[in-house]
Amino acid sequence: MMQAPSPRLPALIVDGKPLSTRDAFDVVDPATARPFAQAPLATRDDLDLAVAAARRAFPAWSATSIEARAEAIERIADALEAERDSLAALLSREQGKPLHTSAGGEIAGAAQWARATARLRPPVEVIRDDADELVEVHRRPLGVVGSITPWNYPVMIAVWHIIPALLAGNTVVMKPSSYTPFTALRFIEIASAHLPPGVLNSVAGESGLGQSMVEHPGIDKITFTGSTGTGRRIMASGAANLKRLTLELGGNDAAIVLADADIDAIAPKIFAKAFGNCGQTCAALKRLYVHDSVHDALAAKLAALALQAKVGPGSDPATQFGPVQNKAQFDYLCALAEEAKAMGARFLCGGAPMTSDGYFFPLSVAVDAAEGMRIVDEEQFGPILPIIRYSDPEDALARANANENGLGGSVWSSDLAAARKLAERMQAGTVWVNDHATISPDAPFGGAKQSGIGTAFGLHGLDEYMQLQTVRISRRAA
Ligand code: NAD
Repeated sequence: MMQAPSPRLPALIVDGKPLSTRDAFDVVDPATARPFAQAPLATRDDLDLAVAAARRAFPAWSATSIEARAEAIERIADALEAERDSLAALLSREQGKPLHTSAGGEIAGAAQWARATARLRPPVEVIRDDADELVEVHRRPLGVVGSITPWNYPVMIAVWHIIPALLAGNTVVMKPSSYTPFTALRFIEIASAHLPPGVLNSVAGESGLGQSMVEHPGIDKITFTGSTGTGRRIMASGAANLKRLTLELGGNDAAIVLADADIDAIAPKIFAKAFGNCGQTCAALKRLYVHDSVHDALAAKLAALALQAKVGPGSDPATQFGPVQNKAQFDYLCALAEEAKAMGARFLCGGAPMTSDGYFFPLSVAVDAAEGMRIVDEEQFGPILPIIRYSDPEDALARANANENGLGGSVWSSDLAAARKLAERMQAGTVWVNDHATISPDAPFGGAKQSGIGTAFGLHGLDEYMQLQTVRISRRAA
């Protein structure tokens, strides 16, 4: 099996320079369950340095024209593309995703996403323009943005946070997940070379570092992507100084397959949308409601696709799906599967960990799943797809909506109009017909209910990094 090349490990960047830290922490390769390198561990003092640098850089950066900021982002995208292969190797090693498909795809996709975001321009709205008064609404940058990211798409999600924040004229302090710190830190190294010192800074580590960012009086806004539980804690910690927050949180997306769906056509797509990135995607399809008349045929097709899939180390060119990223997530999936079996779910494939080193769990399809089982009620965030049988679409919709999450939802049918009607009644930030989890840099994406607060992407997403300022000019002398 091919071993990924040994990557060069990045440093923290503060004020445009590498920051040496006294301590470091282990980062585990999920394919072996053993540490493979150490990442720099930032202290609270290091965080203060990063925030101070970002505050110093803010006046000049926010006064730079948006065209110049967009040009800097284009240069960052060029640099990301130029380093695609080395970043992909590092990403595969720390995250687990296959080097030959997903890892390179994430880096290339992140560069494209940055370019598309750089083309956005915040509008100036004219509310009134008459003999008495001119009233305009402008968008101003907020100041220092703190970005806190998860481990499933370490580079892409860093781009989702940092690029709109910079375009809007903010400066940034970023903290990646401690499970996957290297690619995000390397991205900061690459990007900061194209920015004035202090505009983009990084810190890393756990032990309350994220909470310190949320509580920090020098950080004006936190943009967070991660679990709903952490999102709740962030909201509490940010209360003291009314921190601006964007929270992109967990999902437990339902999909409803109607009786008239073309099973042969939809099975591969449903499979891809449920198991892509090994199910470790916020808006993956996580609960599949299937009409009684097509249930058995669709379940059998999905199980056949899952059985054919090659799960293995990300460095193996034959691998299509890598390991689960970390031990906590792996143990959680094992527990969910055991509990579901004990409650009557039947696994058509998978359902128990693979016997190998590393956090390998096979692609698993469970039928006779139902609400009350944690594989249905909770976000599995892994390669387990529960299938729930229904006979009345209204009942399926009610059950799909009876979950605290509301990130995405989909309806699958040959009748697009009927499917759309049902999809629009799903309580979710994005709904799809005959698709799921597809996103783009120009359309807003965010969670309903407990899946988040605020919006990412497009002009609505850019607004999250700006303060509205109403300018009123009186044209009548007092
Ligand atoms: P997590 O909440 O455990 O950690 C995310 C980040 O928060 C990490 O950097 C962590 O160090 C930091 N953190 C932990 N405690 C903190 C605290 N008290 N204050 C501030 N920061 C703190 O999430 P995870 O396990 O890394 O990621 C998986 C979750 O992310 C899933 O629920 C998934 O659905 C969600 N997610 C959501 C989206 C979206 O756009 N809605 C996208 C990707 C992932």
